Amino acid sequence: MKVLVTGGAGFIGSHLVDHLMAQGEQVWVIDDLSTGNLKNVAHHLQNPRFHFHLGTILDETLLDRLISQCDVVFHLAAAVGVKLIMNRPVETLETNVRGTEVVLRCANRHKKKVLVTSTSEVYGKAMDDNGGAPLREDADRVVGPTTKRRWSYACSKAFDEFLALAYYEEKKLPVVVVRLFNTVGPRQIGQYGMVIPNFVQKALLNKPIIVYGDGTQSRSFLHVADAVEALVRLMREPRAEGQVVNVGNPEEVTIGELAQLVKDMTRSASPIEFLPYEKAFGPGFEDMRRRRPDITKLKELTGFEPVLDLRSIVASVIEYYQS
Ligand code: UDP
Repeated sequence: MKVLVTGGAGFIGSHLVDHLMAQGEQVWVIDDLSTGNLKNVAHHLQNPRFHFHLGTILDETLLDRLISQCDVVFHLAAAVGVKLIMNRPVETLETNVRGTEVVLRCANRHKKKVLVTSTSEVYGKAMDDNGGAPLREDADRVVGPTTKRRWSYACSKAFDEFLALAYYEEKKLPVVVVRLFNTVGPRQIGQYGMVIPNFVQKALLNKPIIVYGDGTQSRSFLHVADAVEALVRLMREPRAEGQVVNVGNPEEVTIGELAQLVKDMTRSASPIEFLPYEKAFGPGFEDMRRRRPDITKLKELTGFEPVLDLRSIVASVIEYYQS
């Protein structure tokens, strides 16, 4: 099969590329290397089954040509990470909204199946509002005002979801929408705010581990190898077409506990320090208290179960930064 991966040099994209290459597929990647890195796919560059294109998904001529010659598209290119969104809001909105528009328009022109990756950010504060029940795909979204920049990311990805579902319903384009919850593993960089690579890098240097807020907020982390397995299974499953599906690991941990776990596992002398959100992100920043997926739908469609637990996830990141 010929597969196009947008954002294929990024953290999740490059692991997906590894998986597809190992399956013997022909793989095309388009990546502008804004947050991705050529190093992530360097080991495939000499392989005749691998084709890398340095470019942006906003370039419709290039994208149209790539999509026309592929069988299916995994659309992962996006502006990601809370820090990036807080620092470069125009770029975030343009890449996420216009980029997905171009991908879907080209896919529709050539009637190629697309898996669109969205994010658990679209739920916003829903879990805080529903008494802490895990988030199901049909939950109401609860997002803050447009004057709070953080929510722009949630809204840009929600627009992507609406557009993908509209193409499915109106144009009969086969699409699958995936809401990725916090995904972690080797190659993820801490530069854009991701918590586990940040904590691990600080711990290995014996520098302070900075917990934003009071550390009682919680998250659920999925290993990238599990995420890739879920994406591939969903792409293969016809019943997933026209669906929105959570991909995540329901195991939950508070950020305070996570800081301690990283410190223990690295045998680090780092102090754990707490920094108010306003100091980290400026006034008015809102964080989610909890975010945990209900993965019933994913299990029913694909039989998927996460394999790697939190300790193995943290261990894989430690090993990556040590080597
Ligand atoms: N966080 C933290 N210290 C860091 C980076 C993140 O305490 O150096 C917190 C952040 O405020 C959030 C959680 O860890 O409560 C997860 O942050 P991340 O950016 O990884 O993901 P998201 O906020 O998108 O869930």
